[in-house]
Amino acid sequence: MVSERNVVVIGSGPAGFTAALYAARANLEPLVLKGFEAGGQLMLTTDVENFPGFPEGILGPELMELMEKQAVRFGAEMLHQEATRVDLSERPFRVWSGDEEYRARTVIVATGAKAKMLGLESERKLLGHGVSTCATCDGFFFRGQELAVVGGGDSAMEEALFLTRFADKVTVVHRRPELRASKIMQDRAEANEKIEFAWSRVVEEVLGDGKVSGVRLRNVETDETDDLAVGGVFVAIGHTPNTAIFEGQLDMSSGYLVVREPGTQTNVEGVFAAGDVVDSTYRQAITAAGMGCKAAMDAERYLEAQGH
Ligand code: NAP
Repeated sequence: MVSERNVVVIGSGPAGFTAALYAARANLEPLVLKGFEAGGQLMLTTDVENFPGFPEGILGPELMELMEKQAVRFGAEMLHQEATRVDLSERPFRVWSGDEEYRARTVIVATGAKAKMLGLESERKLLGHGVSTCATCDGFFFRGQELAVVGGGDSAMEEALFLTRFADKVTVVHRRPELRASKIMQDRAEANEKIEFAWSRVVEEVLGDGKVSGVRLRNVETDETDDLAVGGVFVAIGHTPNTAIFEGQLDMSSGYLVVREPGTQTNVEGVFAAGDVVDSTYRQAITAAGMGCKAAMDAERYLEAQGH
């Protein structure tokens, strides 16, 4: 007989670990399925300087290790397993990792999102060493440098505008001759004298040995290549929320889970969601952690109302 858990948390970024911490401290003995990419997107960053409480900054992986430890200290159980299938149509809910089945009175989904990448080997190698997917997180490290932002949507414009606070020059590299971004964001970017545009260009290679020194751009109209010297490359071509296993069961909008704000309840009572899997706007470790806390409190209240 498969035992029934009060709370199963799926995912192990700041949202998942914070949910686990709060659920554990509420004596709910949560089970966390950490997934294969345990720790989430912060595992791909180096210094985190905007998480309150660490005035000297902290390494992303170290922060995640501390969050996990804190949840474990209060009784959260961590499994290095990926949730591969769920059935939220019956109670208790059923969650599988391969053939292993778990039953849960409540589920907290904190599976996060992935930044879309260009798919270059050089980009992967230099991720965290000049290649970034988050200007808010890393912009500060590029004071006085020249930078490239890849993408033509609102995210790319927002990143480029934000980076002008630190950088001397920001070149937006876009694969077409016109932007996808909203008119207001285009106007702002075009009016900023620190921003230049490299139209109809794709990044063919991120250059640099151990640290980004430039990008090789190919003009898609002429096929000519040229190198642009930059100290950092911000890839802003969109995000993909990790929601595939919930398709047909949880309501989504553009792939992101929909919750009843200001709470974290999904369309299925007893199933809550937190962090980047819900939030396409803020995408910060601290906002994800805050939502994780809300989800655990929502789960606790739900269980109490059910008489558990
Ligand atoms: P997006 O609108 O999907 O734009 C992605 C951009 O990246 C597009 O310009 C696309 O080029 C380009 N791109 C995609 N794959 C690429 C590849 N492999 N190589 C090179 N370029 C590639 O994504 P987003 O900018 O992240 O925005 C997502 C949603 O959030 C949008 O609805 C947006 O309005 C919203 N958002 C709003 C704000 C705001 O209002 N302040 C801020 C951020 C995001 P193509 O144009 O050629 O397809």
